[in-house]
Amino acid sequence: MNISIKHINESRLSSVDLDNIPFGRVFTDHMFVMDYYDGKWQDARILPVHDLSIHPANLTLHYGQSIFEGMKAFKNSDHVPILFRPEMHARRMNASAERMVMPTIDQDVFIEAIRQLVYLEKDWIPDMDGSALYIRPFMFATDEFLGVAPSETYKFIVMTLPVAPYYDRPVKLLASDKYIRAAIGGVGEAKTAGNYAASLYASKEAKSKGYDQVLWLDGKEFTYVQEVGTMNMFFVIDDTVITPATDGAILKGITRDTFLHLLKDWGIPVEERKISIQEVIDAAEKGTLQGAFGSGTAAVAADVCEIRYKDQLVQVNVEENSIASRLKREINGIRKGEIEDKFGWTDPVYEVANV
Ligand SMILES: *Cc1c(COP(=O)(O)O)cnc(C)c1O
Repeated sequence: MNISIKHINESRLSSVDLDNIPFGRVFTDHMFVMDYYDGKWQDARILPVHDLSIHPANLTLHYGQSIFEGMKAFKNSDHVPILFRPEMHARRMNASAERMVMPTIDQDVFIEAIRQLVYLEKDWIPDMDGSALYIRPFMFATDEFLGVAPSETYKFIVMTLPVAPYYDRPVKLLASDKYIRAAIGGVGEAKTAGNYAASLYASKEAKSKGYDQVLWLDGKEFTYVQEVGTMNMFFVIDDTVITPATDGAILKGITRDTFLHLLKDWGIPVEERKISIQEVIDAAEKGTLQGAFGSGTAAVAADVCEIRYKDQLVQVNVEENSIASRLKREINGIRKGEIEDKFGWTDPVYEVANV
């Protein structure tokens, strides 16, 4: 694939304090852009980050035909940026695209676009341990048409952002018996914009009650655990790790998949199945609930210390050497090239032609 590159005149890097970056607000100098029209992806290019001009009738603004991905590149000790399971992100992006009636992107094109951009922006990866370059590929409709129909034109953009280490404290969750994130048959499995807009109201309510995030239950019976925020859920009960089976309403996290591989490799019993909120409460009462944590690209593993469901409160032990912290250390080690990558998950970005 031929990607044209227009370099920025002067990098903004020297004006950025990489040791002090607020998440999501500081962008690197360049972005990747590609347009879909006449039935194919065209004009792959890397350009300085700039504003887009959008017609007021842009379909995305009205009907939300928009999807995204989120991944991270780390630097190894030789300052080589390393991507983690990029082909999984390409596949998930395409699964989201198909669900939202959007065009798919050739996996090699998706990965090459990211490799070239990451290589170009590698100096933006902070040196501080745990820092990374966050990569945000996204696609949205660009037709100017006020009708509910799939767009015939789209833009695919990749932005990169330096991010500080994620210092997480254990989170408190409020299991909602009032709002849902996704139902079977809906779009819960797609990383599509509307899912996040739909979650804001319940999140706001949870925060006003002193909770960090909503623990989503299934959309039919408000019984089975789905996931939380932008993380999948795991529980440790009686030395077995349990995560809700993906059923079409749950986002298929790549960190979740990675955890499942590692746990199986370590010989730790894992179950992917339905798990009700009552089962979690009962385990806590019996003393068999040993841990609960979320999995996602941002935090890798986030311990949960408390779950409220109606008038019941579950306190969860957060142990120093928990399974969650072991998983997190392992993934971080693999992502930085410090632990052997026996599953072939890492993709180092050595010299890239063209850039
Ligand atoms: C992105 C996301 C996740 C986590 O996926 P990872 O690939 O592990 O980062 C989980 N749930 C939702 C709703 C998400 O958007």
